[in-house]
Amino acid sequence: MSDERLELVRGDITRIQADSIVNAANSALSGGGGVDGAIHRAAGPGLLAECRTLGRCPPGQARITGGHNLPAPHVIHAVGPVWQGGGSGEESLLAHCYRSVFALMEQHGLHTVAFPSISTGAYGYPIARASRIALREIRAALQRQPSLRRVTVVLFSDQDLDVYQRTLKALEGSEPPP
Ligand code: ADP
Repeated sequence: MSDERLELVRGDITRIQADSIVNAANSALSGGGGVDGAIHRAAGPGLLAECRTLGRCPPGQARITGGHNLPAPHVIHAVGPVWQGGGSGEESLLAHCYRSVFALMEQHGLHTVAFPSISTGAYGYPIARASRIALREIRAALQRQPSLRRVTVVLFSDQDLDVYQRTLKALEGSEPPP
């Protein structure tokens, strides 16, 4: 069944207006390349200063900060697993990332969030597999958390958007998975 609170868009997550955006962070919360670098550049140096007060964040977990110069007032830094072939607990760590984000949103009374495709860039997680975990966890959260008003997944290319769209259709029961 489809849920109109879930949307998939192509774009740049740093421009999204929502209560929170999710950063695909590293365990050191030290900034980096990809979406992490883009978020830190757009947020300004205050974000790194705040991250430095938090210590390390293990894979599968998440930490919340302010949004500094971003349009979103909060950033939830989620550390995805590095893909090692699939036999090292990657699937449950990735699922745990999404659950950690929704738990923080509940604790902080946040209603809207935008996610990037966690782990599918530098961390090498195959995107078709990652999209199944991401969308399964997002749909489960929408079912159990009525306080969620909008969950946006922001994909950085048309190709990535297409993968997520096909996975969503498959999960909704209308097509075989990609
Ligand atoms: P990871 O280390 O978790 O793999 P990356 O940042 O390398 O994180 O990649 C995660 C995804 O984020 C990739 O699909 C990448 O194309 C995408 N991405 C990079 N910049 C942005 C951005 N500004 N907005 C949204 N997605 C982005």
